[in-house]
Amino acid sequence: MSLSVAIIGSGPAAFYTADALVKSDSDCRVDIIERLPCPYGLIRFGVAPDHEKTKNVMRAFAKTAAHEDVNFYGNVEIGKDIGLPELRDMYDAVVLAVGAGSDRAVGIPGEDKKGVFGSATFVNWYNGHPDFRDLNPDLDVKGVVVLGNGNVAIDVARVLVKTPGEMAATDLPDYAADPIQASPLSDVYMVGRRGPNEAKYTNVELREMGHLENCVPQIEAAQLPDSVDGEMSDRDRRLREKNLATVREFVGRTADEKPKRVHFVYYAQPVEILGGDNVEAVRFERTEVRDGRAVGLGEYFEISCGLVVAAIGYTSKPVADTPFDERGGIVTNDDGRVADGLYAVGWIKRGPSGVIGSNKPDGKLAAEQILADLGPGGGKSGRSGLEAMLSERSVRAVDFTGWQQIEAAEIANAREGAPRKKFVTVAEMLAVLG
Ligand SMILES: Cc1cc2nc3c(=O)[nH]c(=O)nc-3n(C[C@H](O)[C@H](O)[C@H](O)COP(=O)(O)OP(=O)(O)OC[C@H]3O[C@@H](n4cnc5c(N)ncnc54)[C@H](O)[C@@H]3O)c2cc1C
Repeated sequence: MSLSVAIIGSGPAAFYTADALVKSDSDCRVDIIERLPCPYGLIRFGVAPDHEKTKNVMRAFAKTAAHEDVNFYGNVEIGKDIGLPELRDMYDAVVLAVGAGSDRAVGIPGEDKKGVFGSATFVNWYNGHPDFRDLNPDLDVKGVVVLGNGNVAIDVARVLVKTPGEMAATDLPDYAADPIQASPLSDVYMVGRRGPNEAKYTNVELREMGHLENCVPQIEAAQLPDSVDGEMSDRDRRLREKNLATVREFVGRTADEKPKRVHFVYYAQPVEILGGDNVEAVRFERTEVRDGRAVGLGEYFEISCGLVVAAIGYTSKPVADTPFDERGGIVTNDDGRVADGLYAVGWIKRGPSGVIGSNKPDGKLAAEQILADLGPGGGKSGRSGLEAMLSERSVRAVDFTGWQQIEAAEIANAREGAPRKKFVTVAEMLAVLG
């Protein structure tokens, strides 16, 4: 009998795990269970709409989904439609690949004011995630503060300042494109607690900020260190030196060169969001870096803005019926092993770091662990049990062919040059299937 494996979630970590399992010599059947009708997790809802090439990996994942031993069950939420203990009773192994889709709180007063969003919320909104479609952020603002110094912060800044022409060949939904393009926004402040040498963005993303049609980067020369110092790997040193060279090129760009500006502000930590009901400014404390950490200096300044996006990291919500490490924001696990027959991969295992490919080793390891722990397995109802339960509970699961129909409709509806026009509600997606 085949080993039955259920994978919860359908982001990169899920597909890498499924791929490793079906490419092993063992006889296994893998069922990928996703709460939305559409697969791919943050590839669809995280990766920036103007970075379409990054999403090409979806093609490889579609091949995995089409494998004869893999089934996709979209529109099925574990913890709602089916309990995790029920799933574990049905399958020899269950793999948690549910990601880290929630915002980390900044932890400062005023964070609850209108116009303050975490990047998970804001990025999901402009990427057409059905849960965030009705966010309606007020973009009738001149200044925006983006907290954070990583690629997500850069993504948010860039999407807000690009021209309609620069966004034409993207799948940015109209409900986001319209207010972004109508916004009187002139200045985005990307503020990091530490300096350019500690910033986490990759060089391609940083350099792109120097080549935008309508927006010029601004940096104060005094904030730039002379060199990259300290102990680090050669790889890190090369990356930091490249970034430092890039930000040096930004010094001297004139503020009125273009109608919009992205200000790179370093060595400043937010201490309070100011305003009435709505955010009006952010108060910062200047910092310096000691032993790699930002230390407050007791000097303060304010930046006026009507919108704040905190791109300071993602976290996971606890998974019901599973031990959770609150501090780490991950499922408690021993290198992926959670409990007998229960495994974790990707961001729910490691926390929110790394690129798409960083999840591949997790998938490979989980497959090895499952095969080593369970041997040939078998005996549990697996897929037939799942399908019986879904039908008994009248859950309308979307299989991979169903998803491909939805995807084909999105491609057919796309404006010229754009890859797709996303359906932004579950009802619209299901309507394609009749
Ligand atoms: C804003 C942003 C931009 C990024 N851009 C890039 C980039 O340009 N290049 C790059 O290489 N990497 C990028 N990354 C990183 C990359 O997206 C992640 O490394 C990767 O998506 C993590 O994979 P995952 O499978 O662990 O989680 P996810 O991709 O988050 O997938 C989790 C899936 O689980 C599903 N799920 C959750 N709960 C349940 C449940 N109860 N039942 C069923 N399904 C459930 C979710 O709907 C989701 O589909 C970006 C990340 C972010 C946040």
